[in-house]
Amino acid sequence: MNILVINAGSSSVKYQLYDMENAIVLAKGRVERIGMDTAILMHEPANKPEFHKVDEILEHTTAIRRVLDVLVHPEHGVLSAISQIDAVGHRVVHGGESFKSSVLVTDEVKKEIRRLFDLAPLHNPAHMLGISAVEANMPGVPQAVVFDTAFHQTMPAKAYLYPVPMALYRKHKVRRYGFHGTSHKYVSERAAAFLGRPLERLKLITCHIGNGASCAAVWGGQSVDTSMGMTPLEGLMMGTRSGDLDPAIVPYVMGKEDLTIGEVSSMLNKHSGLQAISGISSDMREIVEAVEAGDKNAILAFEMYTYRLRKYIGAYAAAMNGVDAIVFTAGVGENSAPLRKAVCEGLSFLGVDFDEGANGLGRGIEKRITKLGSKVEALVIPTNEEWVIAQDTYSLLQEQPD
Ligand code: ADP
Repeated sequence: MNILVINAGSSSVKYQLYDMENAIVLAKGRVERIGMDTAILMHEPANKPEFHKVDEILEHTTAIRRVLDVLVHPEHGVLSAISQIDAVGHRVVHGGESFKSSVLVTDEVKKEIRRLFDLAPLHNPAHMLGISAVEANMPGVPQAVVFDTAFHQTMPAKAYLYPVPMALYRKHKVRRYGFHGTSHKYVSERAAAFLGRPLERLKLITCHIGNGASCAAVWGGQSVDTSMGMTPLEGLMMGTRSGDLDPAIVPYVMGKEDLTIGEVSSMLNKHSGLQAISGISSDMREIVEAVEAGDKNAILAFEMYTYRLRKYIGAYAAAMNGVDAIVFTAGVGENSAPLRKAVCEGLSFLGVDFDEGANGLGRGIEKRITKLGSKVEALVIPTNEEWVIAQDTYSLLQEQPD
């Protein structure tokens, strides 16, 4: 069975085609700059050279058409017919309180995703464009949706409610939802397998540190707390996002700087974090280079970033009254040895006996970065959200009556 995984954004579509029986990626790629006459398709078929094409692609239906065309292209393709794609799985950022797990797309599901537009105005409308574009190009092919929020639906009320008037929750669903759930779930399961211990008995702190970053307290395989909130702005300091701050800063700065709601939101989401403090970049690679060159602002940015992450790890150890393992994943978590070192070396009080040698070795593999016998283990586990989406889609299809 072949499953196409789609991650549709407002001006981009990322895709990955899986052969499920053999658990291999047949092709992956993305379309960027949708809406422009210089849109670009970047296609990476397995065992064939990469293929790039600049083209006018004005909306998502055409973008999906181009993806399907290249997948069956005689030279660059990997299938002989589109009918060889059995199902499509979509990443959807916000499932609100309605979706506690992945589901097959129905009219009711689409209606509910639309109802959630208010909570994720930048993401959910784009995902719906992706779903409609697949419907238009591949009528009748089953589609599934996998939500970033679903894994965190197990959080108890004490973790997900904000201490503000309850009417805001009742009327407007103001609460913490958390994101990156697909990744936190996947790396928790992989960590248990790596440690050879049952997930049901483990207290894990999973750190998904990419452009966006969040950590989660995962107790017995269930998310009991996570650092992102009603939106992906809360929590850790990120590439361009502020993370936690005093909410009173928002009206204060709006008044002083004469900013609109849109402007202050853009400041906190796009012009804060590593970028704002370093004045150099939102990319951890460039920050680390500048730190090594002795740049003072980069050093401060790096210290703030790792300090805030370490504080969250301490908080989640307290939330679970203990921790067995800390897991690093995503672009920064998987690749930045200096980040892991800075965080783990300050956690010796918890029982983390950091292994600097292991930390510096090997990329893209699951590994332990604490010494043998360390009371609390630290692991690097590469995430694979697309594979989870493909697997969930596959399982939902298997559950369907013939
Ligand atoms: P996204 O949140 O966009 O999914 P990713 O998980 O792909 O992000 O992470 C992207 C980020 O990973 C980049 O912005 C970069 O800062 C970071 N990154 C990638 N490789 C390295 C590296 N070798 N060292 C440090 N950071 C890295």
